[in-house]
Amino acid sequence: MLPLAMPFYIESFNIEVLSMGHSWGTSSAGLQRYAMKVRTAIGWRVYTLLLAALALARPLVEVEDTPRPTLITNVRILTSSGEVEGPYDVLLRDGRIAEVREVSDGADTGMERVVNGTGATLMPGLVDTHVHVGSFTAIPGRLHLPHVPENLAAWLYAGVTTVLDLGMPRSQLERIQRRIDAGRLDGPDVFGTGKPFGAPGGHPKSALRAAFKGPLVRIATAHMAWEVETDDEVDRAFAKQGTTGFAKVLIDQIPNDVPILSDGALARIRTDASASGARVVTHVGRPEDVERALAMPTDALAHTVYTGRLTEAQITRLAEEHIPVIPTLVVWESTAGVATAHPLLDPMEREILPRRSIRDLEANFSGRAPMQGALARWAEQVVTGKQQRWDNVRAMVEAGVPILVGSDSPNLGLTAGASLHREMDNLAEAGMSPAEVLVAATWENSRFIDPDAEFGAIEPGWEADLLLVDGDPTRDLRAVHDLRAVWVDGREVTRRGR
Ligand SMILES: [Zn+2]
Repeated sequence: MLPLAMPFYIESFNIEVLSMGHSWGTSSAGLQRYAMKVRTAIGWRVYTLLLAALALARPLVEVEDTPRPTLITNVRILTSSGEVEGPYDVLLRDGRIAEVREVSDGADTGMERVVNGTGATLMPGLVDTHVHVGSFTAIPGRLHLPHVPENLAAWLYAGVTTVLDLGMPRSQLERIQRRIDAGRLDGPDVFGTGKPFGAPGGHPKSALRAAFKGPLVRIATAHMAWEVETDDEVDRAFAKQGTTGFAKVLIDQIPNDVPILSDGALARIRTDASASGARVVTHVGRPEDVERALAMPTDALAHTVYTGRLTEAQITRLAEEHIPVIPTLVVWESTAGVATAHPLLDPMEREILPRRSIRDLEANFSGRAPMQGALARWAEQVVTGKQQRWDNVRAMVEAGVPILVGSDSPNLGLTAGASLHREMDNLAEAGMSPAEVLVAATWENSRFIDPDAEFGAIEPGWEADLLLVDGDPTRDLRAVHDLRAVWVDGREVTRRGR
């Protein structure tokens, strides 16, 4: 990165620091002091102009300030068991689904907004159970500061109305939630696990430092995980984090041979999680990681393994104990794509991504941004493991393992929003019926986040997080990629695109 460009990056970073919490989980005091120096050096007029330019950038979506009373007429609805029923008239009021009733014959309803749902299906908004709100569509060697509002807009654009973040520090996530709730930031409903538990010097610090060099990266990655070894360290981390309902645990080595959590640390995490009522969600990458996760035992798996075959015993145990798996096939396909200079860049990425990210992906396509060194050696396993991981997911689907839909986006070559649509297609290819994929991405995903949540289904009184799609998505999953309208908490989302 050019030194000249540094102040601008620092500044956009600082806007996030000041306004909603920055993204990389480090103490930002040093960066803020640097930004203040820059502000003094360039003068406040230039500084203000810069802010104005950033603020005037055309937004990807626009969301109504307040929910309007809305009537969606003559529309079929997707139920939480995957049937398409109706048609009905559906009323939205005060951000909630007020009523699902017989189709009326055109009597004046007095509703502010009437949407003709003829030929369309109304379904719950999509839920992504593995995201990183403060990450970005990364290409090795091309560092940008994460832009939280861009990610949030991307999810809404793609019809994703709820996300579960698997790593952002709790205080930052709560600041973002408050801004969304107050209407100062457009975004989906955001939930999170808090910072993950990892080995000192292990993933994710090791992976990010292998992908990007420089002092900024060293600062930004210093405190991304609770790096624990002893019981005391685990206890202190739980006390500092407080209860989020989840404990995210990292068992993997990226790149190869970096430190990994000890058995002792895993045992203590399990004990503390149980004591605080938290469910353990474990990031796994290889069959031996699954073995360690099951021994803990874990409550869910984040990812299917990227290489190697799961044993029949492992699959049987996942099925019999109803341990949900969030395969995120898309992140491994994306990683393999970047490693082989074939990143995922189709119309949906082009609609969603800012120009700088498209330029990065195109650079990767033309071989100008190759994966290098230790990271390339690690990614080689992801490239060669393709058949194995798809076979694993097919076997899990067949065995009845509960499958959830998550994308791990944005990430290496991976775009927020677009990637969840790819993952739904992946799961259909792995043997789930379109109806099963849709139920997993809405009802099952929402139950995983909170068994008592009032979203994820079309129920009177529940949150009006809704998508209107052309045709019947249970017959043809492509319909879910063709969004006619999106509502988040009853507020209509206008999808502008780039
Ligand atoms: Zn992740």
